[in-house]
Amino acid sequence: MGGRPARTAKGRRHSLPAATAGQGEARTAPRAGGGTGDIGGGRTEVMCSPPHQVTSFYERQIRRSGHQEALRRIVEPSAEELRGAGELDTSGEHDDTVVPGLQHKYPQTGLILVTDRCYAYCRFCFRKRMLGRGSEETALDYAAIAAYIRRHPEMNDVLLSGGDPFTLTTGQLHGILDHLLPIPHLASLRFGTKAPVYEPGRFADAALPGLFERIQKAGKTPVVVLHVAHPGELSAECEAHVRRLRSGGVQFLHQAVLMRRVNDDPEVLTALFARLHAMGVRPYYLFQARPVKGAMHFQVPLGRGVEIVCAVNRRLTGLEKTFRYIMSHSTGKVEVLALGEDNRLYLRYHQAKDLERIGRIFSRPYRQGACWLDDLPAG
Ligand code: SF4
Repeated sequence: MGGRPARTAKGRRHSLPAATAGQGEARTAPRAGGGTGDIGGGRTEVMCSPPHQVTSFYERQIRRSGHQEALRRIVEPSAEELRGAGELDTSGEHDDTVVPGLQHKYPQTGLILVTDRCYAYCRFCFRKRMLGRGSEETALDYAAIAAYIRRHPEMNDVLLSGGDPFTLTTGQLHGILDHLLPIPHLASLRFGTKAPVYEPGRFADAALPGLFERIQKAGKTPVVVLHVAHPGELSAECEAHVRRLRSGGVQFLHQAVLMRRVNDDPEVLTALFARLHAMGVRPYYLFQARPVKGAMHFQVPLGRGVEIVCAVNRRLTGLEKTFRYIMSHSTGKVEVLALGEDNRLYLRYHQAKDLERIGRIFSRPYRQGACWLDDLPAG
């Protein structure tokens, strides 16, 4: 895939799509490109690790944030990645794929992997199996995807993910919309992105508001789900672009992963949610880090997670505490509610493949250090 080169933390360069071009682009749906598996600026090839790639902007943001250690941990490879434990597909995405590049896990929602590229690669990413390597999991045939969605009127929401959809050009995104917007039962289009954090200049593209206006004119709601792990990641540039697009009617939600030595601190998360609320971005999901191969060192035990979430909620106003603490399990989205005095962890299905489970509260005996549903014994 050709395009603008991005400087890595070690001064190496990787090819990125020409995402900021904005004008004069061909309106074609994108195709996946090739990638490398190098990390750390050395010669080591590590299977299923994304490339080490950091934008110049994020490098500057790390230095000026005052939170260098936490932010570096998000993007810098470490020897901990070489540990063997964990899985490559913790949420069962392979089983939920109905057309190449389209997943249909919950009736109302479709998820399209529009690219395997990001501006920078988060070391904790649960899709690290596919990032930056020309993955066959990304969408190629949008006509086939649209045909599937048309046959499923229960699907009213589509999430464009990857990779980061905003590594595609605005013209390429229009090419995807050509297929999706004519589908009458689609009510909202979501974009999951960290581009405003890693490369806010992408959101300075003068053509971008027109993309969201087009969605609105088609009678659908554009939603951007912004991925931010730490308040130090929120630059003035990011905030300005978010505010500008919000004033044009784009809804912004927020998601983060709870991570050891990044944001496992009530003060940090409180500051993050309060700042997002002030920007008009609604905190939506705080994810338990998944047992991803090469990323398990980010996991925080569930008992500690409950303590952190309780401490955060004691500090926030009702308007700010709009997030749910969620384990995105292969069976569904499981909200972590509380650790009882009976040493049982109380949980609730927020979303589930088996619709009968939605809303059901259940409990498991808590085992010290457990980080995932499967670590908790039945009974
Ligand atoms: S930006 Fe999103 S998709 Fe890309 S590496 Fe980070 S978490 Fe994964």
